[in-house]
Amino acid sequence: MIISVASGKGGTGKTTVAVNLALSLIDSHSVQFLDCDVEEPNAHFFLNIHTLQSKPVFLPVPEIIEEKCTYCGKCAEVCAYNAIAVLKDNVLVFPELCHGCGGCTLLCPEQAIKEKGQKIGVIEYGSENNLQFIHGKLDIGQAMSPPIIREVKKHINAAQTIIIDVPPGTSCPVIEAVKGSDISLLVTEPTPFGLNDLRLAVETLKILKIPFGVVVNRADIGDRQVQNYCLKENIPVLMTIPMDKNIAVAYSEGKTIIEIQPSYKQKFLELFKKLKKLKK
Ligand code: SF4
Ligand code: SF4
Repeated sequence: MIISVASGKGGTGKTTVAVNLALSLIDSHSVQFLDCDVEEPNAHFFLNIHTLQSKPVFLPVPEIIEEKCTYCGKCAEVCAYNAIAVLKDNVLVFPELCHGCGGCTLLCPEQAIKEKGQKIGVIEYGSENNLQFIHGKLDIGQAMSPPIIREVKKHINAAQTIIIDVPPGTSCPVIEAVKGSDISLLVTEPTPFGLNDLRLAVETLKILKIPFGVVVNRADIGDRQVQNYCLKENIPVLMTIPMDKNIAVAYSEGKTIIEIQPSYKQKFLELFKKLKKLKK
């Protein structure tokens, strides 16, 4: 089962939920944890993965073969991202805008484009007991996280229980990370901002036809608008975690909830059971 843990906005406790769910399961399941929050991966701090192996990730960006180019402009025309500009006797490529789709290379009538690999980040992986861990890391100054997320997801082993830590928001990297999930968990907080971003995340998952449930973190702050919205929309609230200063302090020290309050392990196992039921 592939479970993606997402949130419309950052700072809702998405990684906390993903990590505690994974660690609660490892006594009884073989778990694969994929941290796809490639701009800011931090799950490894909590999972205590000591040794990580590393592999670079390259994006194929176009390189013009000047002798063959007729400056016809076709490549600039097909590029949806404005990563190529054709002048009278020159072609400019903007690698930082290129998505590596290969369209320009394919459609150049003169075969005047070859591709070169541009390093955009790394994936790192390691394992500890029953937990296999993989995350991606986007290089500073790079903007294309979906290719790194795709690279991380190539390692999915369907025989394991897979937990994906999704980047915050509802844009392309989120779609790339949740795509193919059996079920999603949306972590939110009961504030107007939390509700607004939850609505967006819900709409995204509905379009992708992925079943989902909600975890309300810091459930006793703010108001009841999130709960009322879930009730109205028939969205199951699978777990609530109250505001607890000890949990916040533990997080800042790289400790998990189940480490400081072992009774939570049972609650996360219950959450897993509910997710399995929802998936059916
Ligand atoms: S499509 Fe090919 S030939 Fe035309 S401008 Fe681009 S690189 Fe040159
Ligand atoms: S590979 Fe795709 S995104 Fe990159 S320049 Fe060519 S058409 Fe544009």
